[in-house]
Amino acid sequence: MTLRLFNTLTGQLDELLPSDREALRMYACGPTVYDYSHIGNFRTFLQVDVLRRFLKLTGTQVRHVMNITDVDDKIIRNATAAGVSIGTYTASFEAAFFEDLESLRVERPEIIAHATEHIPKMVELVQKLAAAGAAYQAEDGSWYFRLAAFPEYGKLSKKDLSGMEDGARVDVDEYEKDSARDFALWKAAKPGETSWDTAIGRGRPGWHIECSTMAMEYLGESFDLHAGGEDLIFPHHENEIAQSESVTHKTFARHWMHVRFLLVDGRKMSKSEGNFYTLRDLLLKGYKASAIRLALISVPYRHQFNFTFDGLVEATAAIERLRTFKQRLTEGRFSQGENPALQESAKKAQAEYLAALNNDLNTAEARAPIFDLIRTANTALDQAQLKAGDRDAILAVLASFDAVFDVMEDRDAEPTRHALEWAEKSGRMAEVAPELLARQGLTDEAIDALVAERTQAKRQRNFARADQIRNELAEKGVVIEDSKDGVRWKRK
Ligand code: AMP
Ligand code: ZN
Repeated sequence: MTLRLFNTLTGQLDELLPSDREALRMYACGPTVYDYSHIGNFRTFLQVDVLRRFLKLTGTQVRHVMNITDVDDKIIRNATAAGVSIGTYTASFEAAFFEDLESLRVERPEIIAHATEHIPKMVELVQKLAAAGAAYQAEDGSWYFRLAAFPEYGKLSKKDLSGMEDGARVDVDEYEKDSARDFALWKAAKPGETSWDTAIGRGRPGWHIECSTMAMEYLGESFDLHAGGEDLIFPHHENEIAQSESVTHKTFARHWMHVRFLLVDGRKMSKSEGNFYTLRDLLLKGYKASAIRLALISVPYRHQFNFTFDGLVEATAAIERLRTFKQRLTEGRFSQGENPALQESAKKAQAEYLAALNNDLNTAEARAPIFDLIRTANTALDQAQLKAGDRDAILAVLASFDAVFDVMEDRDAEPTRHALEWAEKSGRMAEVAPELLARQGLTDEAIDALVAERTQAKRQRNFARADQIRNELAEKGVVIEDSKDGVRWKRK
């Protein structure tokens, strides 16, 4: 079975295979590091993570490039306002971005490419475009792409550009839907702005040229997949195609994946609307990184998805079920042998799980058979019908689920601790939820009390509560050890 993924370019589900049979060459637009990314941005990065993890699970290696936009209008504006260089300004937001990706367990792409480190290559591409008659220099020294030179313009976004005004120009990086215009490739230096002295004049690159340049630099003129959020289809990705194909006359990316928006009350989560949460905002409210990850990936990428706190609560409960179940399996003692019905259930769950992901990465449908299997297996466990061979088969299914979802191990303490340290450093302690502060500030007496409650719960065979206490303590960095002399605990 091969992954069939919706392709914005062809408008249908297409098989996604590495054309060189070795590694799938993919480029995903990265962040503009002018501020903290919000969870809408992270939805896109997480869905790309789902894709790359699923490819790897099913035996396809990936060569994944992500750019860091470290020079653009917003960065220059903010750095100037802060009175620092753009390098100083972007460094801390880039570090925060990678810390957030790690908290969300997003795998690091094989190649991270910074715009400011590829200026000479961008200049070369502008020169090639000029030689091909697809770029021209305006009176102020800026360079523009000549849309009239690329008749296929609009093929990705399916825009009808027949009424387009020849020679009308736009020099901002992001512009309105219906204003297809000659767009800036290179912006002439303005007094006081960061600029580079190059063969095409003193200035700085436009946003679009960086992605064409860096994608072709690391993946070749033609590659397998290009991804980003749905807002990038036009103009950014349309412009990338125009800039690249006008020079190479080859298909730039064969497959285009676009992640639909995370919404709040029906509107796109965005900085400019002011309706956003950063990862740190949510961690300080007491939500766990794993729950945020699960909530953001559980709605398939091709559906818009309305963010709610109830969704996070649901994800928290789902993770609790997964972890408690796994603990039951790994810590239990089972007789040798197999229960044929359970073997069948495990096989069926695994097949349905893979089929759902192969079908355009349907994460919601992929989750369902896993939770069905947990229900069936829990019943068997209660009736002592689960054998050692079943445990191994079920653990294998959970492992393949977790190769993509990655929420089973409890690693939630660290992201929360980082967020608290960050809040303390940046004067945001007032935003921390009181329950979280209380949990973090656990006294020895409070731990003793919880450990005693757990022992009592176990005695009453209330294993769910006992596990819950163990997990809660683990989250706060407290490990419980059961030994024949009683229960011990220590802080990690
Ligand atoms: P930016 O840092 O603004 O360049 O955005 C980084 C990525 O997040 C891009 O792929 C955007 O398309 C994507 N993005 C921005 N807003 C949202 C949203 N509300 N939901 C999903 N993806 C988004
Ligand atoms: Zn891009």
